[in-house]
Amino acid sequence: MSKTIQELQNLMVDQLKRRGFYPKDEYEALLRIGEEVGELYEAVREEQDQKNIAFEAIDILWNLLRFCEFKKIDVERTFLEKLAYNETRELSSDKNS
Ligand SMILES: [Mg+2]
Repeated sequence: MSKTIQELQNLMVDQLKRRGFYPKDEYEALLRIGEEVGELYEAVREEQDQKNIAFEAIDILWNLLRFCEFKKIDVERTFLEKLAYNETRELSSDKNS
């Protein structure tokens, strides 16, 4: 049942194309990320049930993956590169910076 991020992206693209909800460009995908963040805020503020909150969180991921696809970002490889890079960064004593 478990899938790689690439497999999830492929499922997403197939469904978006089939159902006609395919964001036309990276700007639309970005705007949708913002819209979905607002929906997640609302779901949390209204103390909606766990399933609604989870669905709104996934809507953000969904559009982020779509944005990464437009920008030709290999999500799995870049995630690991960033993880390695973060290991080399100095930690600030000020956790708010
Ligand atoms: Mg939503």
